[in-house]
Amino acid sequence: MGIKNVAVIGAGTMGAGIAQVCAQAGWQTNLYDAFPEGLERGMNTIDAFWDKGIARGKTTAEQKAEWAANLHAISDLRLAVKDVDLVIEAVPEIMEIKARIFHVLSIETKEDCILATNTSSLSISDIAQASGRPDKVIGMHFFNPVPIMELLELVKHDLCSNETIEFAQKAGAEMGKTTI
Ligand code: NAD
Repeated sequence: MGIKNVAVIGAGTMGAGIAQVCAQAGWQTNLYDAFPEGLERGMNTIDAFWDKGIARGKTTAEQKAEWAANLHAISDLRLAVKDVDLVIEAVPEIMEIKARIFHVLSIETKEDCILATNTSSLSISDIAQASGRPDKVIGMHFFNPVPIMELLELVKHDLCSNETIEFAQKAGAEMGKTTI
């Protein structure tokens, strides 16, 4: 269950932070947003965070270059999620948008790809049903700002498999998070 390739859907406040920690974990990370300006803003946010880290002596230009090489801005959803091991969705808190995305994910991702949502308040069961493979869907609820906050809440639902929970625990640990 090694994680190599991941996709983050939505490059806003949460998605940019999640993509950043995924790239820092050493995973090839595709960041997708439905809007070009959203994708650009997300990439700029990550770049600025790393630059600030260099200015404060918390990281180096070499380390930034390594992380940046793991991060890919992709403006085509299907391309972004093809062949990835994990998708983390962070689009606006609107069920219709999330359900549509999970339906596309059910078609365009590998069958064993784990599908996570960062929803704060919507039903994970309903989102899981939209995916057509609810056993592989889990809530991964990050906190803002994602690169700083250590906690990651994993949210299961009735049809979530133990393998999916274990996968999410391992993913969280590789991202440097404490999972509950
Ligand atoms: P945001 O508005 O900052 O970002 C949402 C991004 O999704 C935007 O860049 C937007 O362009 C993009 N988007 C819109 N429609 C899309 C689509 N169909 N496909 C792909 N991208 C699309 O929102 P946010 O604060 O990052 O929240 C995202 C999710 O994370 C929500 O479910 C929210 O409840 C949850 N969350 C937010 C926080 C927080 O503190 N902001 C904390 C935990 C969880």
